[in-house]
Amino acid sequence: MSFEVKGWCPGALRPMVSGDGLVVRVRLPLCQMTPLQAAGLARAAQRHGNGQLAISNRANLQLRGVTEASHRALLDDLATLGLLDADLTAEARRNILISPFWATGDGSTDLAQDLTARLMDLPDLPSKFGHVIDIGATRVLAEASGDLRLERGITGGLILRADGADLGQPVTKQTAIPALIALAHWFVDNGGIIQGRGRMRALIQRGIAPPGASEAPAAAVPPPTLGQTETGTLTAFEYGSFPSDTLAALAALGHPLRLTPWRMMLIERLSGPAALSSIPGLITDPAHPLLRLRACPGAPFCPQALAPTRPLAHRLSALVPPGLTLHVSGCAKGCAHPQAADLTLVAGLGGFAIGIAASAPDVTGPFHPAEDLLTNSNLFDQNGAA
Ligand code: SF4
Repeated sequence: MSFEVKGWCPGALRPMVSGDGLVVRVRLPLCQMTPLQAAGLARAAQRHGNGQLAISNRANLQLRGVTEASHRALLDDLATLGLLDADLTAEARRNILISPFWATGDGSTDLAQDLTARLMDLPDLPSKFGHVIDIGATRVLAEASGDLRLERGITGGLILRADGADLGQPVTKQTAIPALIALAHWFVDNGGIIQGRGRMRALIQRGIAPPGASEAPAAAVPPPTLGQTETGTLTAFEYGSFPSDTLAALAALGHPLRLTPWRMMLIERLSGPAALSSIPGLITDPAHPLLRLRACPGAPFCPQALAPTRPLAHRLSALVPPGLTLHVSGCAKGCAHPQAADLTLVAGLGGFAIGIAASAPDVTGPFHPAEDLLTNSNLFDQNGAA
């Protein structure tokens, strides 16, 4: 089997070609792994890939370095673990991000399961079109990518909000999924798809108002910091990537693991980071300088990359003041961080373009050689990001 590059989101059945082999993205139901599944995924990454895993910004798990020869055996392992969709269509449509802080009885998992059961009632949607379920005690996914968003409204009830719209449509647990399906059809019927692509936010920005929108969402809260939460303990990894041994060690703790769009992992019901101290590859200190960095794999791991990224980000890390973020992107696509960072460096043929409080696609030249950036100790100050 051969696979083409880009234009869609990879999955397990349809992996993406990268510089170090195929990237297989596993869309975990409820963005969660049981300890058994986590152990199985660690084994599978070692056997069928290069042993490297990563969390995507939609809380999916990526296995890197899979070969065309090993892909079939990997799919068999995923099926055994209950992590393989029936076919490509089912996999492509199951693009559901759920708040990692969902709690039993808050309705989040019911909505996710109801939506999963009705995916075939959705119209054909662009590959990147996704759904967000963010109805827990706090609205934490405001910055996470998603086109149709189930949230809490300011009055405490449920709302369905088109991404980019200020207001959402009040719904109940019973009407939420039928309303979501209707809003997906509204998106298509109102010209949301152009040449196979399109996002809800772009349609709303064209001045087209979604139907029934009357209630503002509850106030958004910023992404959490590492450490103890009511649901468990949050830990992080360098650039969201980790080796299979780390995942195997986390699985051995015996707790379910939830992935987050902040490339952190939440270890359910684990009290504090002390139990993690012997596991290599984890970041548990919320003040760790690497947490200020965002960087995609870059060259030579991505065919689109115009330069290496993580070595530069690493060398610049000492210049990033606490509380600020640096994003180094191998091209204008900005996979590692779709949002704006305080300072964004985007690779081009002449070096890196600098953007202040900008997302990667908005950053334009001039380009500066990486060495010039490395010798500029006032990079943040001079560019107004501090
Ligand atoms: S942003 Fe990075 S990972 Fe994404 S396509 Fe560009 S070089 Fe590749």
